[in-house]
Amino acid sequence: MSASNTSVPSEGSSSSSSSSSSFNPNPNPNPNPNPNPNPKPSRLRIGRRYRAGRLAGPYDAIVIGSGIGGLTTAALLSAAGKKVLVLEQHYTAGGFTHAYDRNGYEWDVGVHYIGDVGGHPTMTRKLFDFISGGHLQWAPMDSTYDRICLGDEQYDLVAGREAFVDELSRRFPGQRPVIEAYLERVMAVASAMPLITLEKLCPRWCAPLFGLYKKLRWPDYLHKTTYEVLRELTDNETLIAVLTGQWGDNGMTPKTGSFIIHALIAKHYLYGGYYPVGGASKMAETIIPQIQKTGGEVFTYARVETLLLDGARVTGVRMEDGTEIFAPAVISNAGVFNTFEKLLPESAASAAGYPRQLQTVQPSMSHLCLYIGLRKTAAELGLPKTNYWLYPSPDYQADTEAFLQDPGAEIPLVYISFPSAKDPEFENRYPGRATIEVVAPAQYAWFERWQEKTWGKRGADYEALKQQFSERLLAHLYRHFSQLRGQIDYCELSTPLSTRHFCAYTQGEIYGLNHDPARFAQTWLRPKTRVPGLYLTGQDIMSCGVAGAMFAGLVTAQSLLGWRRGGALMRRIFSGSTAENNGAQSTSPLSKLGADRLRAP
Ligand SMILES: Cc1cc2nc3c(=O)[nH]c(=O)nc-3n(C[C@H](O)[C@H](O)[C@H](O)COP(=O)(O)OP(=O)(O)OC[C@H]3O[C@@H](n4cnc5c(N)ncnc54)[C@H](O)[C@@H]3O)c2cc1C
Repeated sequence: MSASNTSVPSEGSSSSSSSSSSFNPNPNPNPNPNPNPNPKPSRLRIGRRYRAGRLAGPYDAIVIGSGIGGLTTAALLSAAGKKVLVLEQHYTAGGFTHAYDRNGYEWDVGVHYIGDVGGHPTMTRKLFDFISGGHLQWAPMDSTYDRICLGDEQYDLVAGREAFVDELSRRFPGQRPVIEAYLERVMAVASAMPLITLEKLCPRWCAPLFGLYKKLRWPDYLHKTTYEVLRELTDNETLIAVLTGQWGDNGMTPKTGSFIIHALIAKHYLYGGYYPVGGASKMAETIIPQIQKTGGEVFTYARVETLLLDGARVTGVRMEDGTEIFAPAVISNAGVFNTFEKLLPESAASAAGYPRQLQTVQPSMSHLCLYIGLRKTAAELGLPKTNYWLYPSPDYQADTEAFLQDPGAEIPLVYISFPSAKDPEFENRYPGRATIEVVAPAQYAWFERWQEKTWGKRGADYEALKQQFSERLLAHLYRHFSQLRGQIDYCELSTPLSTRHFCAYTQGEIYGLNHDPARFAQTWLRPKTRVPGLYLTGQDIMSCGVAGAMFAGLVTAQSLLGWRRGGALMRRIFSGSTAENNGAQSTSPLSKLGADRLRAP
């Protein structure tokens, strides 16, 4: 769609709307009673501001980007005695795990819930404990972690395998065998993760062997879309919609997304959702000291302009201010498009064949997020510790296509999260206040014409478009939480331009690369690139999600350290010790990678 034609009529004005009659076109004529024409940057800053004079090299490795993948690689290399420099272009560290504050409120950006971190010592929990020195704490959500709302019907995803099956069997009488069979397939994906991980670490010449093994031994549903797999089990479209109602967690509708990513996410949350105590910024805050222990540092306001080459080898980075920093290894956490299209000089990228490889993958969808502040506590407002997924109908594909072609069509997915209800420490930091986040898909093209304008000064037409989307999202919120009418003190909408500006994803993409079946067949999405000295980490080489990107960080560290030193480090991590209390013995951690997804808490 042409960006210059973008105009967004009120919700459901398009003919494709299925339930537009229930929509109140003017639910709240002034949704933002405290409009903020000149928003001030957040004061919540994690990391140290970059100055060339603060560099204290030589460094053993440089990490570009402080997302959870980059921080994990840095923390693990530090635990192996390396001195690591992390360079982050944003004013705060953490990538999508950063949080920000404004007007007396604080919101997370890309951390609404994390799975596999409950009481049981899962691998996810052990890795979080190790890289945070045991300082990252987790608060459980409600046992109903996700509520899928199809029109006026609500279906609960309840923590624990048995409870999950019992609840859905109650709602779908006679479907218990289908639900059990579905979970078997979900578990089979978890069982495949060690092999997927191992392939990323083995030399490239092993790829045909892995390919043959996968072809002969893997169930064919590992190569299919989520919908294809579910449709083999049942023709009950409502049940399929409920089982795939978390599709926003990977940004691909069930008919387009790989069953692998669906299953990883479904399994990740099967034993419940958790929230970092103190908010999402606690992740970077607790990991950075581990990096500093060996003389490393995490600098913010530190945009890397280009990778430096000596012949075919990457030897360092040039910063935006012209400073050149050298290290034997450079690890990019900036995503594969940024790495091979912007950071690596074109000649080197072409020589290594990356322009052709990039044609096999697509950027993921982009999104809107309405950040809301209220002058009462979550308890006073009755806010739940459950995420709400609102859909106009079970036909996710048709609804999403209609909206992405015509933003006036009904919003196909509205996701609501209540961070202040989930964080037991929120009230200590912000007494008498609460926050809500409302997320929806979006097209970058709708906002493209303002991409060259400065943040906070994009003009009245941009603000008007944001206002229209804000009102529509608020209408969805009020439909399910009518007690919130008149309670909102402040709200602001982020667009794909915000994601581009703060997290440096060119198309404002929410999850890096698309997670379609073709992506999972790409053997070049691995830590070690074809360019000597250059490594990748983060969501693009494993999967989206904080845990997916964090395990990518682990795989990259392993790749850099090699089997012997990397294996020793992994034994320390998965023996249960923290970075402050490094243990010594454990069993085959690599072979168990991803296997925590199989275990009950
Ligand atoms: C709205 C939203 C909600 C989400 N909700 C959840 C959730 O509830 N649970 C969950 O598990 N996951 C969630 N995710 C996904 C999760 O946050 C991400 O998959 C994960 O954090 C990505 O981590 P990463 O390591 O790949 O790096 P990123 O977080 O993508 O960070 C990359 C970093 O690189 C930096 N960078 C880029 N270029 C340069 C440069 N040239 N110089 C210096 N720095 C540079 C960027 O500024 C950025 O900080 C959500 C994501 C979004 C957007």
